[in-house]
Amino acid sequence: MSRPVHMPALDGLGVRVSAARAAAEARGETFYPGASRVHLAAFPPKERWDDWVELSSRAWPAREERHYTLVPTTCFNCESACGLLAYVDAGTGRVRKFEGNPEHPGSRGRNCAKGPATINQVTDPDRVLYPLRRAGRRGAGRWERISWDEALDALAARIRAAITEGRQNEVMVHLGRPGEDGFTERVLASWGVDGHNSHTNVCSSGGRTGFQFWMGIDRPSPDHANARVIYLISSHLEAGHYFNPHAQRITEARARGAKVIVLDTRLSNTATHADYWLSPQPGSEAAINLAVANHLIQTRRYNEDFVRKWWNWKEYLAACHPGRPVAFETFQEILAGLYAEFTFEFAAAESGIDAAVIAEVAGVVAGAGTRFSCHSWRSAAAGNLGGWQVSRTLFLISALLGAVATEGGTFPNAWNKFVPRPIHVPPHPGVWQDLSWPEEYPLAQNEMSFLLPHFLADGRGRLDTYFIRVYNPVWTNPDGLSWMELLTDEQKVGCFVALTPTWSESAYFADYVLPMGHASERHDTHSYEQYDGQWIGFRQPVLRAARERRGEKITDTRQVNPGEVWEENEFWIELSWRIDPDGSLGIRRYHESLERPGTRLTVDEYYGWMFANSVPGLPERAAAEGLTPLGWMRRYGAFEITRGQGAVHEQEVPDAELTDPAVTPAGRVYTSAPPGGPNIVPTGAPEPDGQGRRPAGVVVGGVVRRGFPTPSGLLEFWSSTLAGWGWPEHALPGYIRSHVHPARLEPGQLVLLSTFRLPTQIHTRSANSKWLDELSHTNPVWINPADAARLDIRRTGDLVRVETEIGHFVAKAWLTEGIRPGVVACSHHMGRWKLSGHGQVSAGGMMATVDLGRSAGGWVMRARDQVRPYESADPDTARIWWSDTGVHQNLTFPVQPDPISGMHCWHQAVRVGPARPGDAHGDIAVDTGKAREVYRSWLELTRPAGRVSPDGTRRPRWLMRPLRPSPAAFRLPDAGRASARSLP
Ligand code: SF4
Repeated sequence: MSRPVHMPALDGLGVRVSAARAAAEARGETFYPGASRVHLAAFPPKERWDDWVELSSRAWPAREERHYTLVPTTCFNCESACGLLAYVDAGTGRVRKFEGNPEHPGSRGRNCAKGPATINQVTDPDRVLYPLRRAGRRGAGRWERISWDEALDALAARIRAAITEGRQNEVMVHLGRPGEDGFTERVLASWGVDGHNSHTNVCSSGGRTGFQFWMGIDRPSPDHANARVIYLISSHLEAGHYFNPHAQRITEARARGAKVIVLDTRLSNTATHADYWLSPQPGSEAAINLAVANHLIQTRRYNEDFVRKWWNWKEYLAACHPGRPVAFETFQEILAGLYAEFTFEFAAAESGIDAAVIAEVAGVVAGAGTRFSCHSWRSAAAGNLGGWQVSRTLFLISALLGAVATEGGTFPNAWNKFVPRPIHVPPHPGVWQDLSWPEEYPLAQNEMSFLLPHFLADGRGRLDTYFIRVYNPVWTNPDGLSWMELLTDEQKVGCFVALTPTWSESAYFADYVLPMGHASERHDTHSYEQYDGQWIGFRQPVLRAARERRGEKITDTRQVNPGEVWEENEFWIELSWRIDPDGSLGIRRYHESLERPGTRLTVDEYYGWMFANSVPGLPERAAAEGLTPLGWMRRYGAFEITRGQGAVHEQEVPDAELTDPAVTPAGRVYTSAPPGGPNIVPTGAPEPDGQGRRPAGVVVGGVVRRGFPTPSGLLEFWSSTLAGWGWPEHALPGYIRSHVHPARLEPGQLVLLSTFRLPTQIHTRSANSKWLDELSHTNPVWINPADAARLDIRRTGDLVRVETEIGHFVAKAWLTEGIRPGVVACSHHMGRWKLSGHGQVSAGGMMATVDLGRSAGGWVMRARDQVRPYESADPDTARIWWSDTGVHQNLTFPVQPDPISGMHCWHQAVRVGPARPGDAHGDIAVDTGKAREVYRSWLELTRPAGRVSPDGTRRPRWLMRPLRPSPAAFRLPDAGRASARSLP
């Protein structure tokens, strides 16, 4: 051996190595202890990350050792933010592979297939490497390479003009998966622009809304690992939030005997692991939840003490039963009648599931006590009109059991998430963006992003400069061809900028395509609720960190990234400087160094300040290893701040936090003291009292406790917000019949489930991962054999035509009993395309080349050429063996916004039949004129703030807004007309 053998300090390893050495020597062989010197099943111990040794697989049988620097970063292929370890080859200076980071408290070294596939994205031969500007008309596919300086100067000039001319609302940054906590919002706030837009209303806002109205916090954080019963309305073991970190904890619980109940119309991988799989009629999930809740109520198997202490039943009685005594017994009596109609038989009639099965499930739930964990995310909450009541009724079960912030229960996510304070905090913008937060949707959980083409077609405004980031609106949203019409209209969108690592159906229509880094090529911080604790993760450019570990000085991430690939954070800082070069607009100061005033803030200083000043415990932990806080995060990638956060709502508020207190008759406590207590992140901003004091807690049991960030401070069984903003009939957890309820379907129509993920792809993020593409590249229509026989669809692989309200698509059938009769399903991942004439402008082996044109009925799209092998820098592109890339079904869906949550209701009422003569796989036909009509019909369901606002504001201030404008901006333009009371 030319190298010294370092014996690791791992339990038992020395014994094993000694035994192996003795055995080899007894056989007369030369002992080789193994390249890594640790047991193969072990993760690389962090002490060895500077020089990790493995054998070259290509050199075998020669034992050629390869030396690696292991650098942590964070996966960006879904929002779980699992830790990755990049293996940076000491010889080549390149990343050889990605594996799990064992030091990450959320993912604990584990990843799904998409984590290691990051290497495909980094080495993708089709990725965008240089800034590009269009060289013909929009969408013509002609591009010229430009410098970053040219792009920055052009964009800065436009944005500066918009700001100085009072056109702030013409600047918008539209995010898909953010992958970070607050950087973009902070940039926009520094510009004084209310320009944050998100994809959330086509994703999770339905699920969030139900939790928000209960807790004042919009996401659940289930403690699956310690649960006795796990109740999922989501394919959570394979694809839901937060898939891998939650799945491994659900698996642990199952191993200890926990029961898993899954409501999923489709036999998902998650359903296959359930003890109880319920395949309900789509949209009936809330009826099942209410039948379970009713069982708990009728059998008095609910947690009376918890309900008495933490529900706002007094407020409910006072508002809805004014003649009755405000006593818990009164409430119990009323509660017993409220849900009495939701019998097992009623739920069975709505869902199609046997009443005895629902009764058995209810019995299992009742036995869970406070160890009942639950989750509902996209799934039913994202599919149905009123889908937000699915999560509201699900949390009703948790709240009845008292399984809230208990071991094995469900926490408000903000208690298990940590967002550090940044170095600069700009003020709230003083403007309101009506295109994202229109008057018709005052209670929308998030921006009404998917209606943008219709709002601009209505003449509600225009955009001067429109950025997209990790977002592909033409492909991801419903009604994508209306998006294409918008993005090719320079009157409506003056300049369209795609910040993207790879080509997409939207980037084709951009004016600028600017290359951004993948997971291992950029900085972000993030923190997600994955167990009862708080952690913060650090995504970083791994080659930058590796070279800095060797003593090099890197000042710009472009110095280590391929081509001229950059990262958003350095880009935003530079762009902000160019918008305000002399500081006269007051923007530049939020992007200046504190250490070297008058110079640009660097990402090292930005994150160094954050880790040193606002992550409790990290400076001490780093110092113990002789590292700076930033150095510690660069080395290990994640830090656990707390574990066992517990029942924060029960905590007593110390007197020191109760300066100048005021207590309402209902027990809400206000103070003028600054916020204290645990570092938690409420998603809204509870309304101050008339004196400007902030809510600090609520009196429960004669003690001021922290409570919940709702208006009452309690769990809101009855929502004064829903009641006060025009929706009193939905103020309680309830059941809203879906737009695809059987009673609303026309004869012959089926329900199309279009939202489900595959475990091996994520939206448009993973299409340039060749390993994932090989695993999953098509999306057949699931159809029950009984339906297939009735519809004359004879076998799997037959072409079917699926007709929606605005068009149709043609796909292959998959006959399976994994879907209930009357329902068909199609995964939304596939059907990627590029326009013919765009040459190699593509995203790997997943894009068909299509012709897109007009016909009498609207747009028609047909694949001219499916994917095929091709020559590139990667020899694997010549080995592509598949040609079917599926169908882009979302193009054929009209917008269907829920009038309360604002969530797009994805399920479609469709007709399905055999393909017609001349139909081809992947065909799309869409009438965008009809799409306008459907938009208008759903708009009529709304109750605009101008009519219902009780206080002259556009939106309750306590509800979430990711980028919150100033209080004055919340006022309706002519606020006097409806104002019942004025803002403080
Ligand atoms: S679950 Fe998979 S895709 Fe998501 S962050 Fe973890 S490894 Fe990446």
